[in-house]
Amino acid sequence: MSLLRGRDAADELCRTLKEKTAATGCRPCLAIVRVGERPDDLSYERAAVKRMSALDFDCRVFAFPAEIGQEEFLAEFQKINADPSVHGILLFRPLPKQLDEAAVVAVLDPAKDVDGLCRENLAKVFAGDPEAFAPCTAAAVMAVLDYAGVELKGCRSVIVGRSLVVGKPLAMLMLNRDATVTICHSKTRDLPAICRQADILVACVGRAGLITGDFVREGAVVIDVGINVDDQGKLCGDVDFTSVEPKASLITPVPGGVGTVTTSVLAAQVMQAALRAVLKK
Ligand code: NAP
Repeated sequence: MSLLRGRDAADELCRTLKEKTAATGCRPCLAIVRVGERPDDLSYERAAVKRMSALDFDCRVFAFPAEIGQEEFLAEFQKINADPSVHGILLFRPLPKQLDEAAVVAVLDPAKDVDGLCRENLAKVFAGDPEAFAPCTAAAVMAVLDYAGVELKGCRSVIVGRSLVVGKPLAMLMLNRDATVTICHSKTRDLPAICRQADILVACVGRAGLITGDFVREGAVVIDVGINVDDQGKLCGDVDFTSVEPKASLITPVPGGVGTVTTSVLAAQVMQAALRAVLKK
């Protein structure tokens, strides 16, 4: 078994990004839009701000009170969206209940949609368009696999989870790279048997320890996207590391796996958005 640490893939991505930034002289700008103070959002925000700062990108945080109304929020969001000095927007979701999330996403400029929320970007991901901004977590899984040199062509990949944020776009990204992909979900019958067929098994469920050793074929690559808190209050993934690790050829840990790569992928997409904006001028 070999441990696939996210930090190594993230470092590699950032090295390339630094070179690109230096070569273009462009200073990308990310706007982070947060409503309220959910701990998950604050934790991702800290990581994103740190990553952008390490790359010398501009990063502006727009934080709004949890009780903000739809009209006021939409007006503020549209100002950020229309600001030509902002190249990419990261909108934390879910938004509080009083806000109409679909209406907000509908006005988000697809050219600034660096976390792949808009239908336009998802359609491009599904069409295999290389210009698409894929949701960062799905793209981070691909970055981890690429860093490790895992060949996707012809391999059998099983993804457990079918959300629009991770499972579905990831399935398309893998299919676009010629993997044979199976998507599983809560109604899938005999999940362990399907998972055992995987050369690459990705868990994006949100159930601590769901994937145990008997779900895994000897030598499979196991990518754990899940972020959960166990009975002892410790962060853990969807994969039961103790029983899976001896069987896997490569395995990502939680914490320290895919989550670590997400902000680097976000930075890469902000850079791309900035370069496209500069070229359009
Ligand atoms: P989600 O929207 O709740 O989707 C969960 C998926 O898992 C659904 O498709 C659901 O099936 C499926 N599922 C639930 N229970 C199952 C079971 N017992 N067997 C098989 N499938 C089951 O969650 P998400 O937003 O995709 O996130 C998934 C996990 O990834 C969470 O732990 C989240 O915290 C983590 N995450 C991590 C990152 C990162 O940067 N590392 C980023 C985003 C999310 P149905 O569709 O049938 O309900």
